[in-house]
This record gives sequence, structure tokens and C-alpha cells, in this order.
Amino acid sequence: MSKKTLLLSASFQVLSFIPERKMYKLLIKDKVEVISTWDNEVNWIGGKIKQPSIIKLKDYVRKNYSNSNFSRKALVKRDKSTCQYCLKKLAASQITVDHVLPRAQGGVTSFTNCVVSCLYCNNRKADRTPEQAGLTLLKRPTHPSYSSHSYVSDPQEYWHEDWSDYLNGV
Ligand SMILES: [Zn+2]
Repeated sequence: MSKKTLLLSASFQVLSFIPERKMYKLLIKDKVEVISTWDNEVNWIGGKIKQPSIIKLKDYVRKNYSNSNFSRKALVKRDKSTCQYCLKKLAASQITVDHVLPRAQGGVTSFTNCVVSCLYCNNRKADRTPEQAGLTLLKRPTHPSYSSHSYVSDPQEYWHEDWSDYLNGV
């Protein structure tokens, strides 16, 4: 059984689960800080460290991390064709993609920054955050394949309890 590492952005948003090799690469380049660890130790330069279970990028996300596997189709499926602001069920032709943190304010096109929205809510929100526009998000957007639900059902993976802090609420 493998023990994965959950990679978070500098603002604590879930980016992806990464394999050990990639985790060490980020660690050795001093690009991440360790948030939580597994119980076992692993060899590390000049000694041993506990194997990280959650690491967080020190710098704000580069696009290639947050953008992985993004597709409009998967987003629509994740949000069940429902406007995440007014909860209206939308026909395919009514669906627009809203950037929660608007592109005009540096928001990227990613699962953790995009939601399904009706045209009315999207226009009303414009280049503002939900708070600025007085809109409430149904839930914080997450990567669709990283909901805890899909992991609990996989007995081949260890589950780290601290992951729940970031993966729940889906
Ligand atoms: Zn709406």
C-alpha cells in the first residue's frame, strides 16, 4: 500500500496528491513546507525525517499545478449542472463557468477556482469575488477526483486523517 502526499497551494487549497518522488523533489528545492506527517520515518539528507502526508507550497501557485486535468465537462459534472450561487439547475446551453477569484484579480482556471454558474449570477458577479458581489457560494470548489468519498472506497490507499481538514466539506 502506498502513502501519498497531499499538495496544497500557498493559500491551503487542494492541488493534487503527488507521488513520493515528486514530493522529495519539491522538498529538496525548498519549495514546500511540511504541514503534517505519517508515523514512519524516511531517509533524508543527513538523517531521517517523518514521511510528509501534507505539504504546502511556499509560493503562490504556478498554473501547471492548479490547471491539471481541468475540463469544463468535469466541472459541470462535479457541480451537477447547478449554479453554485442561486442553486438553479441549468440546461447545457445555460451553463457558464465562473472564476471564483476573477481572472481580473489573478484567478486561474482550475477546479479549485471555477464553479458552474448561470448567466445571471455570472453577470451579477462580474469581476468581483463572491464576497465583493454579495453572493454566497454553495460550497468551496475542490478537485472532483479528490473528494474523500472516492478515497474511502479505495482500500489500496492509506488514508491520513489530517487530509479530511482539506478534502471534506465537498
Ligand atoms: Zn445563478
